[in-house]
Amino acid sequence: MSYVGPDFDPPQPRRNRRRALTVAAAALVPGALLGWVMYEAVGGPGDGGASGNAAVRPSDTAPTISATNDDKPPGPTPTTDSTSAAPHTSGSLKGKVVVIDPGHNPDNFQHTAEINRKVNIGTNWKECDTTGTSTNDGYTEAKFTLDVAHRLRALLQKQGATVKFTQDGDRSWGPCVDERAEIGNKAHADAVVSIHADGAGAGQRGFHVILPAKVNAGAANTGPIVASSRALGERIAGSFVRATGSAPSNYVGDGTGLVTRKDLGGLNLSTVPKVFIECGNMRDTKDAAQLTSSAWRQKAARGISDGIVSFLRG
Ligand code: ZN
Repeated sequence: MSYVGPDFDPPQPRRNRRRALTVAAAALVPGALLGWVMYEAVGGPGDGGASGNAAVRPSDTAPTISATNDDKPPGPTPTTDSTSAAPHTSGSLKGKVVVIDPGHNPDNFQHTAEINRKVNIGTNWKECDTTGTSTNDGYTEAKFTLDVAHRLRALLQKQGATVKFTQDGDRSWGPCVDERAEIGNKAHADAVVSIHADGAGAGQRGFHVILPAKVNAGAANTGPIVASSRALGERIAGSFVRATGSAPSNYVGDGTGLVTRKDLGGLNLSTVPKVFIECGNMRDTKDAAQLTSSAWRQKAARGISDGIVSFLRG
């Protein structure tokens, strides 16, 4: 989750975007998403014309394209297994190190004292870690992040990458956000992705990728990684759209699926390219239906993997 909890700021003002994407917005979105926007603007194969004009689509219906995953723009085939990777590319990430940071920890709930301890994130002090959110039915974000992380690891290893986790449900709490960053740094990771799902209000839907802002305070100095992290994030956002059919967030990011923040220790303290992804909103029932679907989580992992692979190939 992104907007509740110590590692995150209080809820940001909600823009209540009634029109998540407009033709005008197409001019503002990064190239990685432009294809999706254009696809939405003209309608796509099998689309039935329902999304023929994104500019007039109410925000609460726009994300329904993700509920019918057959409606998607051309791109990497988002099958539910990992066999869709082009065989000739297998192994191309040999020598590359990817650190996956599954957000939170399933047992953080039992260790509130430990995770509430303050750690320095350069710009200020924040709690070590947070419990994360859950769906209204109790499927926890921590379980979600680990599941997607496992799927993502399998896909990346198939490409020959060396994959490391910050935690694998193998410790009773945490790690703290500063340690999560340090793990990526010490691994000299070529890319780090922190996996989350948000805890926003009902009706707020879609994914967003969080990019590090430029900060230089205390131990935080993101100047060297701002550009590379943005490149990584843009690739992931674009491939996530293609793989899942999900729309970019309708409540942050102005329809781009990208948000830049300077209050996250996991980003502030990173010395290697790193982004967070909020895969959807666990508190929205439509998003939750996807997040709780193993088939959808495989598509999400595929989308993240495709973005990482694209980034690492340059
Ligand atoms: Zn989270």
